[in-house]
Order: sequence, then C-alpha cells, then structure tokens
Amino acid sequence: MTFFIKTFGCQMNVNDSEKIRHLLENKGLQLSSSEATADIIIINSCAVREKPQEKIFSYIGQFPPSKKIIVAGCVAQVEKENIFKKKVKTDYVVGTHQFYRIGEIIDEIMAKSLPGTAVAFSRRWQELVPAPSARSSSATGYISIMEGCDNFCSYCIVPFTRGREKYRPLAAILREAEYLAGQNFKEIILLGQNVNHWHEQSSGRTFADLLQALARLVQTPWIRFITSYPGYHDRELIEVMAENRNIARHIHFPAQSGSTRILKKMCRTYSRSHYLQIVRAFRSAIPEMKFSSDFIVGFPGENENDFNLTISLLERIQYESVFSFIYSPRPHTSAASMPNTVSAAKAKERLLTLQKLQTAIQLKNNQQLIGRTIKVLITEKHRKIPGEVIGRSESYRVVNFTSQTPIGTFIMVKITSAGPHSLRAEQISEMV
Ligand code: SAM
Ligand code: SF4
Repeated sequence: MTFFIKTFGCQMNVNDSEKIRHLLENKGLQLSSSEATADIIIINSCAVREKPQEKIFSYIGQFPPSKKIIVAGCVAQVEKENIFKKKVKTDYVVGTHQFYRIGEIIDEIMAKSLPGTAVAFSRRWQELVPAPSARSSSATGYISIMEGCDNFCSYCIVPFTRGREKYRPLAAILREAEYLAGQNFKEIILLGQNVNHWHEQSSGRTFADLLQALARLVQTPWIRFITSYPGYHDRELIEVMAENRNIARHIHFPAQSGSTRILKKMCRTYSRSHYLQIVRAFRSAIPEMKFSSDFIVGFPGENENDFNLTISLLERIQYESVFSFIYSPRPHTSAASMPNTVSAAKAKERLLTLQKLQTAIQLKNNQQLIGRTIKVLITEKHRKIPGEVIGRSESYRVVNFTSQTPIGTFIMVKITSAGPHSLRAEQISEMV
C-alpha cells in the first residue's frame, strides 16, 4: 500500500508529517512521490487563517472516490464536525493529538468503509523520534520540545487546534539532539508554539537551561528555536546565547503589532517599549544578533496611528524577514466577536505598505553583503536547475549558488548580487 502526505502550514506541521511518515513506513507502507500513485492521501493541515483552510478543501476535492482521504492536523481538529458535511470525500478525520494512532486508523479504514474520527486531546507527551529517512531534510533536524498554547491571543485559533501546553522531558530532547548530531545533521531547530515557555516542573529547568545543556552536549554548528513569545522573554536566554557560539545569532520574535493599544486588544502580554527593550538587550550583548517577526494588519480597532507605530517598529528594528498577514477572524476566538472596523481595502493597503517597506529594508540589508564572504549551510538542491544549490546564512537568508558539494555541508561563499528575498553567491571553500 502507498501513501502521500500533503503538508500545509508551519514547521510544526512539517515535523508532524515526518512523524506520520515514520509511523507508516515502519508499518510497511511505502511513500509515494505523487498523489496520482498513492492509495492513501493524508492532508496535514493548517487552520491559522481562513483562506489557507479553504485551499485545503479545494485540494481534497480533486481526488477520485477510489483514493482513501485522511484529513489530519489543525483543520481536522477544529472542523471535525463540518468536514463530513462539506462536499469533499473524507475517510477519516485525525486531530493533532491522535496522529500517533495513524497505523491502526489505516487498518480501520481498510477493514470497513465507514468514515471515522479521532480528535480527542491528550495531556500526555507522546514520545516519537522520526528516523532520518522519514525527515524532510538531511541537513536540518526538527526537534519538537513543546506542544499547544495557553496564551489565547484574541485572534488565534491555535489553543483550540493544538490544546493546552505540554512540555517534552529534557532527557528526551537531549537524546534526540545527540541522535541527530550522530547522524550528521548540521542544524537543529527546536520547535514549539512558545519555545521559550518550555520548562520542566520536576527539575525546575527553564528554556535557557535547556539551551545551555543542548549547546554543550552537541557540537552541531547551528542550533535554532522557533517560535519565541516576547511575553515569556527571560534575560538568561541572552546570556546563554552570548556564551555559546553554536546557537545561531537569529531569533524569530513575532511582535504582531507596533502599537501597545492593539497588543492589549490582541491579549499579547508585552508592550511596544518592552519589546524594544528586549531587542536592545539582545543587541548590546550580541551585536550581530538578527531578528525576524510576524505582523497582523487590519486587526479590529487598528487606526492609522496604530498602523504607523507598526511601520515605525519595522524601521527601527530592521528585521531580516517578516511574515505579514491581514487579520482573519477565526472561530472560537474572542476577536471574532469584535466589530471589524478596518475595511478589506484598507487592510490590503496597509499590508502592501508594510510589505513594500520590508522589501526595501531586506534589499538594503542584502546589498550590504555584496563582496563579503559568509558561511552558508547547503540545505537543498535546486529543483529545476542542475548544479544549483540553495543554502541558508546564519540569519536564515536564502543564498543561491552553483556547487557540486553535497547537502548538509557548510561552505564559505562570496556574495555577488542581492535581491530583497535572496542572495546570489560563488563558492569559495568547503568547510568540514
Ligand atoms: N506562537 C507564535 C506567536 O505567538 O508569535 C505564532 C504562531 S501562529 C500559528 C503564526 C502566525 O500566524 C502568528 O504569528 C500570526 O502573525 C499569524 N496569525 C495567527 N492567527 C491569525 C489570524 N487570525 N489572522 C491573521 N494572522 C494570524
Ligand atoms: Fe497563537 Fe498567541 Fe499562542 Fe502564538 S502565543 S500560538 S499567536 S495564541
């Protein structure tokens, strides 16, 4: 039997898909290279905004009735009652805490043709380490350290799709990191909705303690972590990063808005000045520190002054990259019942203004690198151009160049040209 996994959404969804693939390959099923040749199609889905969710339903709609369709992940969790009502064929709906049972679920689908659901939440951490062959990259290894979210930001569906926070034990995290280092992974990315809220009750250890232990244990050159919630920032994190050169000098630090008034309405627990103070503290301890962020525009009640504060935050911080979204009302969230005061046209205009500014910042930042030699990790081969590879710089910039060197190698490259979203380089030397 063959299967195909279509993943929508963030790195956490990618990591869940790796776990699903691991479970199914261990069961003797074979991964198919395309939907056309697969008996079972698993859609691992993201529900953070409405439009991507709609895309998932139109994706499912294209398949003939002979295919077995499993809707898994966040959309499955929130749309559990509605999925079977939609006019798309679905054989099973598997929630975010239930995909560990994917093997027995497939047995059930094959044994009887009735559709089923498995969407219960569980408080227990489910330990599962995907084999290297089930992972999406041979250079970058994802390590899940926590799941769920207790923050209930007023716009966000995640606490309803992924449940309450639960934390993976330190020993298990370190074991997976050692395993990946032993398998020659060159980059480790710790994953969680609020990684910097990770803690271990039994030992009293915090996220900074975890990073310190990890940085000492594995000589993996780049340790990254995503996503850090500004409200949970702890000064010790800066000290640990400053002390350990194998922690990449880059943090994804979503501000969402530059206006304290809007941050309050979003139920974010930090202010603009607190956010700026954290960035200053990072920069004074680690001058080369780089930041990236997420922003939402058009949140209910956002006026011109609020938006200008967001724009001025971008100007002040000079982010490496920014993900920006128009506010999308989501079921169960408290913001969904706030009167939406920003018209669709205005929200679009603000998004374009923000993106135009950020594109100019990135272009300027990238152009400053022309002629410089930087270290890059080769993460993938170009899909269409033979001999071309794609790498990432320490601050996660995309670097394209021609190379015969394998994926997972650190290389020194000289930057030859720059666009806003990527750099072009030539290879100088290979590093061990
Ligand atoms: N936990 C992370 C944090 O607090 O920054 C964010 C995780 S969320 C899955 C990813 C991003 O989606 C958010 O940072 C936010 O910018 C965006 N997002 C979440 N809900 C949204 C909504 N209702 N409308 C628009 N964007 C949204
Ligand atoms: Fe969503 Fe807020 Fe939790 Fe991030 S911290 S996942 S934005 S509720």
